[in-house]
Amino acid sequence: MPVTADAIIVGGGIIGVSIAYHLAQQQLGRILLLERDVLAGATTGRSVASIDHLTLQPHAVDLFARSAAFFAEFDELVGASCEFVQTGSLVLAGAEQAERLATAVAAMQTAGLNVKILSLDELTKIEPRMQIDGIAAASFAPGAGYADPVLATQALAAAARRLGVVIKQGQLVTKIVLQGRQIVGVETTTSTGPVQTISAPLVIIAAGAWSGELLESVGIQLQLQPVEHPVVCLQRSFTLHTHPSLLDLTTGIYARPETGGLTLSGSINPKIGHEPINPDGADGYVHDDYILWTMRRLLQRYPQLKTSQLRTGWTGIMTISPDWQPVIGTWPHLLGLYCAVGFSGQGFQISPAVGDFLARMIIGDSAAAHQLALFTPTRFSTGKILRTEQDGKRYGLLG
Ligand SMILES: Cc1cc2nc3c(=O)[nH]c(=O)nc-3n(C[C@H](O)[C@H](O)[C@H](O)COP(=O)(O)OP(=O)(O)OC[C@H]3O[C@@H](n4cnc5c(N)ncnc54)[C@H](O)[C@@H]3O)c2cc1C
Repeated sequence: MPVTADAIIVGGGIIGVSIAYHLAQQQLGRILLLERDVLAGATTGRSVASIDHLTLQPHAVDLFARSAAFFAEFDELVGASCEFVQTGSLVLAGAEQAERLATAVAAMQTAGLNVKILSLDELTKIEPRMQIDGIAAASFAPGAGYADPVLATQALAAAARRLGVVIKQGQLVTKIVLQGRQIVGVETTTSTGPVQTISAPLVIIAAGAWSGELLESVGIQLQLQPVEHPVVCLQRSFTLHTHPSLLDLTTGIYARPETGGLTLSGSINPKIGHEPINPDGADGYVHDDYILWTMRRLLQRYPQLKTSQLRTGWTGIMTISPDWQPVIGTWPHLLGLYCAVGFSGQGFQISPAVGDFLARMIIGDSAAAHQLALFTPTRFSTGKILRTEQDGKRYGLLG
């Protein structure tokens, strides 16, 4: 284990490895990534990993668009597959969300993504199997889909290692070490070993649901809220061979196909299926009332799924920030500390751009710093919390 590094990244989920890979591309020097367990062993490994090509948050458009382009070329860029599966993605809106959807689609188009508003006739042509009651507007992104989040993490980690990054698993960071205003390293330990200090002038916290407590050790309060999110997994019967990925704003659910004739579905309603928890105390159950809630809404769109078989599913921990938007950047009163946390249920699909922009911000690229400025961790104390005018009070996965 090295005792000094030029940069230490804490956390080996998709965000940490993306930062490591992109920092190495910027030739930052000796980069060390410390993961307390195994790569992709926490939230990332439990992700539904949809890549939707749409956000209703105007601030996040570039993160989504750049990342979509990266995923489209992932295999060539990274040198290994993330098993991207193109399913196309439909977003369904009621009358009250139609205008917002149209604005979001226009913004994604300006950013270069192939996504369009569909008339109800076009919607029925693209997806004749779906019931369209209550839908006033819909969008379709033909290139959207999903990837394998564990493979994506491993592929980026392997590419980072080839660029010289040292990755240590089973290595818990217990403390960020500060001298005056300057970050000087971290304290770390294994399950059996002694506490060791590793010196570095730059520390990047990408520790998912555990980031809050690490940051508190240097006096930073971000009010990140870990929540347990259940995913319902169905085995489709022959009555519904397949379907596109779906975000249904009218009923509050998402659904996407999975290999082996499966469908994964769950809630995008912030009040359902986002139960605050201690990240070490998740119970892992997909409860019956949640399954019923999700199934009722899914059957509204696809009555054919009535004959599907339930496989229960799994839960994972999402880390929700106070405005349900990522928290990326640094603090003016501390030198050398950065974070990329609070992804609020959408971190997988924006992970390439988060890594790229943050790496470039760290080496002093002002354009990248500008791209990330709105996501600054200081926004909660300076009153610059990200809300949309239309939706000042209601938060959720899609903002
Ligand atoms: C059920 C579910 C479905 C989701 N579906 C989608 C989706 O469809 N599309 C999408 O874009 N996003 C989705 N998300 C969100 C997305 O998966 C997350 O935003 C993303 O995986 C977060 O990655 P991360 O690297 O920040 O966190 P993590 O994957 O949790 O990685 C953080 C790592 O830090 C390590 N760590 C923590 N503390 C320490 C420490 N002190 N020292 C060393 N290491 C430490 C942890 O062990 C962990 O491996 C979903 C999330 C869940 C739970």
